[in-house]
Formats: sequence, structure tokens, C-alpha cells
Amino acid sequence: MSQAQLTFFNSLTRALEPFSPADPDLVRVYSCGPTVYNFAHLGNLRAYVFTDTLRRALTWKGYQVRHVINITDVGHLTSDADAGEDKMELAAAGLGKDIWEVAAFYTAAFKQNLRDLNILDPSLWSVATDHIADMIAFAERIAPDHCYEIESGLYFDVTTVPNYGSLARTVSDEGESRIDPVTGKRNPADFAIWRKSPPGEKRQMEWDSPWGKGAPGWHLECSVMSLKYLGPEPFDIHTGGIDHREIHHPNEIAQNQAYCGCNDAQPGFTGANFWMHNNFLVDRAGKMSKSAGGFTTLQSLIQRGVPPLAYRLLCLSGHYRSELEFSPEAVVAALTRLKRLVLTVRKLPLADEPGIPAQAYLNRLDAALSDDLNTPQALVALDEMLADKRLSAIDRLATLDAFDATLGLNLLTLTREALRQPPADAALTPRAIEARLDERQQARAARDFARSDAIRDGLIADGVEVMDGDPLRWEWKVKLD
Ligand code: AMP
Ligand code: ZN
Repeated sequence: MSQAQLTFFNSLTRALEPFSPADPDLVRVYSCGPTVYNFAHLGNLRAYVFTDTLRRALTWKGYQVRHVINITDVGHLTSDADAGEDKMELAAAGLGKDIWEVAAFYTAAFKQNLRDLNILDPSLWSVATDHIADMIAFAERIAPDHCYEIESGLYFDVTTVPNYGSLARTVSDEGESRIDPVTGKRNPADFAIWRKSPPGEKRQMEWDSPWGKGAPGWHLECSVMSLKYLGPEPFDIHTGGIDHREIHHPNEIAQNQAYCGCNDAQPGFTGANFWMHNNFLVDRAGKMSKSAGGFTTLQSLIQRGVPPLAYRLLCLSGHYRSELEFSPEAVVAALTRLKRLVLTVRKLPLADEPGIPAQAYLNRLDAALSDDLNTPQALVALDEMLADKRLSAIDRLATLDAFDATLGLNLLTLTREALRQPPADAALTPRAIEARLDERQQARAARDFARSDAIRDGLIADGVEVMDGDPLRWEWKVKLD
């Protein structure tokens, strides 16, 4: 097979660069994981559809992948820049629950989201609170040259490393104004390595440290866990949402530089060779925020009858570096596209003979993925391959294997039933809908159009919209609001 050069956009240089791993066979990837104080919203999940696409593309290119995702169960404050309260403590207090229970519950919910989206498990889930001793040891090593202690904790002085914030590129007034002042900080961008528990206050999560009882700053965990499991030499790829390019990742880089102490020997050391960021899923209605309350979760889509893979397809239909607009219409359109794909695949007759994958389409898939994960192009190649009458049905099925392995849409196994789950609050079960549709079919066959219309109106009243002309009666318009 002709192999295209694998190319990724590196946020460090803001340019497309040829990719090859430090170790020729193994690619080491770290992805910033969720903060488990609430359900992930659909925007958060876009970040993991992106990392999964990355992972599958690397596997397609013949690499082994060691992929670590962390679980943030401590330290993330309501503002990314060290102000406000700990999100976990706040959520637990609001729910009147034990903080560990809250973390376990939302961690399990997150992992279920990933399974529903056919996102592969990482090689390792690393949980922040399992690494407190590692974080303290890391902090002790960088403290003498890079940190200072004030009343509220141990802070990192960003002027002690070269080129602080170069990943963000915008040490602008706007960036600075996002950083809330903390009394005693030397520079606005300095950030907490260790936050002391305020005197007289008992936190649910706190640990002893050389700087007093308290909890680690949020940025620390990712440096510690990524270097522990994938370093200490620069590993290959670090991922996150584009918001992390502004504060979290510049701070991780500063910590990594301090820990390495190698800037003279390795100028430009950041801890990872590629930093890759997915753009945001945006919701014009302004709901896409985990902390704002009214957000859209994967579960809320499932309850409205949208199968999770329709959301995966929506994500793949945009490039990961472009903003993607979420709307009920967009997700319903993705569902229709998914149904068409499955319908097309189902129509291909199976044969005993194994098929032969069509090289030209494998090359197109390879070229698309290699071009900075161009999934929209891969989907076009998929559509054209399935429609290519010059290929036999079994060869199309064999070619589909490669598309399924890389795009993760399960087109070979997805069932009609999985695609037409009625909303949780639907008045009718699928069986009852089938029965009414059969009745309507009979009425139409008998040319009793008044009755056929009455049955359709009855279904509409029960929230089921019937799309005429669909031979498989797949088209139920899902009402989303
Ligand atoms: P969090 O749980 O807030 O730490 O976020 C988990 C991941 O989701 C991070 O990589 C964020 O950068 C990413 N993220 C947050 N909001 C969005 C969004 N609207 N669209 C895409 N990614 C997002
Ligand atoms: Zn992180």
C-alpha cells in the first residue's frame, strides 16, 4: 500500500509537521482527562472523539500506542487560573455527598460515555489522587529554584523558565485579565503548585505536605503523570481542548522545564514533541458548559432517541481543528447520514468468499487520516466507496473493515434497532409503533387513505413522525429541544 506521510498540526509551531515517534514502533500519547465533578458535556466528549481518532489513525499507520488519560479528581478550581473554589469540593458540598463518591460516580459515567461512543479505553487511566506522593516529590524538586511560598500556598514563578507562555502566543491584556489576583503573587501568571487549606477550614480532600495541609494545584498532576508514565524524555503527543492552550498547557510546560532543568542542554524542551488541540463544540444557545448547569450530555441525547454514534459521526464530519456547531438539527442530520450509511451497508449481499479491499479507497483513507486527521475527507471516500458499482459487494465490505477500524462507526455491526431507539419519554414502544405502521400499510393497500392519515396523525400526536417513502420505515424524526 502506498503510505502517505503522516502529518499533524503542532500547536507549538502553529504549523503542519511530519510526525514520527521518538521510539520507532511505539507512540506515547497523553490526553488531559475530565474533571469528575459533573457529567461530561458533549463538548468535552468531542475532545475524546478526537483523541480516539488520533489513536486509531496511529494504529492504522502500524504503530503501537501507549495512551494515558488522567482523571482529575482534585485541584481544578472554578477558574482555570487558580481562583475560586475547588470544583470537586463545591460539587460535593452542593450535593451533600462524600467527595470520593462524587468522583467515583462521575468517573463511571464518563467511562460509560466513552464506551457508548466506541472510544477505545486508554492503555492507562491515571487518577490524580492516586499520585499525591509523586506530586509532592515533583514539587519538592522544583521548589528551590522555581517556587515561592505565600499564605495561600506554594506558587510557581513563571519568570524562572525561558519563554513562559509561548504555546499560548497571546500574553495579551485579555489573557492577563482572565487571571484573578491572589494576594502575594509575584506575577499575574504565577500559579499554584500546592494550595494550603485555609486555617480553620476542613476540606474533604487534603493531605500533609512540606507546605502544610492542603491539595495540589491542578496543573501539577498532568506534568507528574505524563512524565511518570510516558517520560522523562519528551514523549510524542500531548492532547487537550483548545482552551488548554492558553493556561493549563503553558503551565504544564513551565513545570516540565523546571523539573527537567535541561534548558541549556535541550532548548525548547516542553515535555512532549507535539501538542495537539481540538477546537470547541459550540452551542449558540450557550448551553455547552459543564458548570453552567444547563448543558447537553450524551445521556440526554440517548434519552431523546439519538444513538451515541450519531454524535460521533457529527464530530467526524468536521475537522477537529475547526469549531463545530452543535444544534438539534445538526445531530438529527448526522443521525440521518448514519442511517443512510447503515442502510447502504445492509443492502450489500454477504458472500462466503472473503472480499479483497479496494486499494484505491484504502489509499484515500490513508491520505485523509495522514493529512492531520482529515475525517471529513475520509467520510467522502467512504460514501464514494460504498456507492462504487465497479466494486463487488464483498470487496466493498472488505474495504469497509478499514473504514470501521479507523472511524469507529461500527457500520458493519450497527443494527436497525440501535438506530431507532425511541426517546425515553415516548408514549409508544417500538413494537407498538411497528403494529400501527403495519395497520397503516394495510389501510393504504386498501386505498383507505382517511384511515391511513388518521393513523399517521395518531402517531404524530404520540411524538412519532412517519417519513413516507422509506421502504424500511426507519425514519422517525426525533424531537429534540
Ligand atoms: P474538563 O473536564 O473541563 O477538564 O474538560 C475535559 C476536556 O474537554 C478538556 O480537554 C477540555 O479542553 C475539553 N473541552 C471543554 N469544553 C469543550 C468544548 N466545548 N468543545 C470541545 N472540547 C472541550
Ligand atoms: Zn492536563
